Amino acid sequence: MDKTLPTTELSSALDMLSDEGSPVDWTVPADVLIEIGEPALLPLADVLASAGSPEVARRAMWALTRLEGVDPSSYVPLLRHPHAEVRSTALSPFRFMGEAVIGYADQLIPSLGDPEADVRQRAVWAFKAMGDAAVPVLRRLRQQPATGPRIRATALEALATIGGPGALGERDLAAWRRLTRIKRLTETAPERFHLCGSWYAVPSDDQAAVLAAFDLSDPEPVTLRTGASAWNHDSHNWGGKRPHERCARVFVSPALDGWTLVFGRSSQDRHRIEDAEDQEAARSEVVRERCADLSRRFGAAHWYGMSCGDGWTAWCIAEGGEVVRFYDAFEADEKGIVGVRHPAESGFLLPHETVDTGDALDSFTEELHSAGNQLDVEAFYRRYAQARRDLGIPDTCYAIDIAARLSINPSALGARTRITGSGVLALTACGRRYGHPTGALSM
Ligand SMILES: [Zn+2]
Repeated sequence: MDKTLPTTELSSALDMLSDEGSPVDWTVPADVLIEIGEPALLPLADVLASAGSPEVARRAMWALTRLEGVDPSSYVPLLRHPHAEVRSTALSPFRFMGEAVIGYADQLIPSLGDPEADVRQRAVWAFKAMGDAAVPVLRRLRQQPATGPRIRATALEALATIGGPGALGERDLAAWRRLTRIKRLTETAPERFHLCGSWYAVPSDDQAAVLAAFDLSDPEPVTLRTGASAWNHDSHNWGGKRPHERCARVFVSPALDGWTLVFGRSSQDRHRIEDAEDQEAARSEVVRERCADLSRRFGAAHWYGMSCGDGWTAWCIAEGGEVVRFYDAFEADEKGIVGVRHPAESGFLLPHETVDTGDALDSFTEELHSAGNQLDVEAFYRRYAQARRDLGIPDTCYAIDIAARLSINPSALGARTRITGSGVLALTACGRRYGHPTGALSM
């Protein structure tokens, strides 16, 4: 790039980035701006603050967080920008600095008290990136009466996020429980669950019996949001610093339309799978035995699996002590299927099944390949789904479709879901021995 002409280049790249009608793909000017680096910082913040559409704002945010060779301290003034989207975007580079972000702790503290919830959330993530080093800083904020109440409340959330409830002192734990109670009361229409992993469903509201069945103890009431974030964190926590972080705790939901859902596994089940030579085989064995056992106690029991990454899905249905159906989309040979088609699968294609559509859908494939990123993806899928319906091709079912018919679909909880009791985070045998895992609890 010719460094002697940065001003012209900068302004034409900014113009192009903001022009949704431009024939040039927006990533081209974005790359130019990223390469320009520091001189593009404030102008991009202005584009973001005055963006006329969500698309232009998205482009500006994208470029703003990727500028090359910019010292993080250059983002500090933007943390006080009048526009909330600029403030929240400016926090991203800190979040991705890793533990070195501790050097900016003082500059980041005011963001914990930001009037916008989204900015506060991102500030929490930045403190989370500091890891254990953030704990004394946050504890100090909790103890200083002079700190504003909003900063102190967010510092508490950040402490729980970094250390889990187990890391809080007596007073903070009491405050965290109060905050949980308040948030649970307002959680009438729970947010969508991000489903990546597997869970059990039992037709019972007897939480104590469910805890006993999974050898769980020390239940700590939490919001659905906290429980879901703990599950997502633990099941993806491959780089944990302490042993048994992935098998320490389980989220047991409140009764949802009469069903109690269990996100996570007992230590015994987890270890049996992880120590096995053939983990796939061990997992389905554990799941089938567990479902059979639970269905003996509770009349029925299900297990569901979803992956947000690769399309994997699976389910197991047990009644009165017997597994009547087991299906694993990635093992859909004899060993991945038990039982005959379940009524809950009727009218659907199973994920491994395909139908011959002749040439009828070829035009969609062509369109997909030729349109590149000009494609309106949502409109495309709407038309595609309609064409499949016109041809009488059934939808493919996933575990959530089966769950919606048989128990409850956690990704479709809403105002009409009947919630009784409270969800809890409970400790497994490993959790009792090694303590709560650190990290990642949203409230
Ligand atoms: Zn363990």
